[in-house]
Amino acid sequence: MSGQHFTEPADYGTTPRDPSMPEFVTVYEVGARDGLQNESTLVPVDVKVEFIRRLLAAGLPAVEATSFVHPLRVPQLADADEVATALSDILPTHRLPMLVPNVRGLERALDAGAREIAVFLSATESFAKENLGTDLAGQRVMTEQVIAALPAAMSVRGYVSMCWGDPWEGAVAPAVVVELVRYMLDLGMREVSLGDTIGVASPTRVEELLTMLGGAGVPMSALAVHFHDTYGQALANTVAALRCGVSIVDSSAGGLGGCPFARSATGNLATEDLVWMLDGMGVRTGVDVHEVIRTSAWLSAVMKRPLVSRTATALAAAIAEDDDRREH
Ligand code: MG
Repeated sequence: MSGQHFTEPADYGTTPRDPSMPEFVTVYEVGARDGLQNESTLVPVDVKVEFIRRLLAAGLPAVEATSFVHPLRVPQLADADEVATALSDILPTHRLPMLVPNVRGLERALDAGAREIAVFLSATESFAKENLGTDLAGQRVMTEQVIAALPAAMSVRGYVSMCWGDPWEGAVAPAVVVELVRYMLDLGMREVSLGDTIGVASPTRVEELLTMLGGAGVPMSALAVHFHDTYGQALANTVAALRCGVSIVDSSAGGLGGCPFARSATGNLATEDLVWMLDGMGVRTGVDVHEVIRTSAWLSAVMKRPLVSRTATALAAAIAEDDDRREH
């Protein structure tokens, strides 16, 4: 292929923003935690730190940095303390939440300088047992212990896994998720991210759950969505959520990661695919999609892993060629 490189949606024409879409979407980047946690390749600390710094430089407003889960359980993130320490110069000025599964994890995170944490709960008993080694009541006890041990005014993001379906239990009743989200917000969490951990939601079911949440008095501004592209539905589900008023979307650079506790789950929504779509719809994110692609392409090469993102696959070569031409 030769000639010009058309590498932005605007190259193919622009349209005014659809008024049913938010003006600005906060892209919450999970590649360094949810992504790398679920890749078999072990990535060295310095590569993780560079990955995180490059994502911030690409304009991502929140980059989840790591997880203080037990090192034997998730060896990919056994270096959480080192990663956090290596980011200490930017922790005060950037949003770099760190996941903690329990009070021990919180203590490690605080020792390493964490300024914001994330916790997760399962909508289903089966996944609570599989992932947290406890039941639905037990996970609430663990969460309340973490909240009670928090320094004053520290911000907490909550995740709910299996909001639309579970590999052991099948469909999940929206009322169960609504009750759990209310509980989490009542504990003071700044936002709750609704996870489609195995990628089985549809736009209709996304709308159903968000409508019920709104009806229960949950402000859409307190919600994020976390879609998996297992069945190719992540972008469609994202549009459905945005039209309901959600404006925080989780995604993973390069589509890194899946979920080791649910074998069928592959593929977080890729940040590049999300930003490309929002750019094309006239929705601002502050994220430079080309910089995200450069970052994913670099990491893919380091990990010897193919790029999963469609947008990154489509554009990585053209962007590299343009960069090359500029340098020479
Ligand atoms: Mg995920």
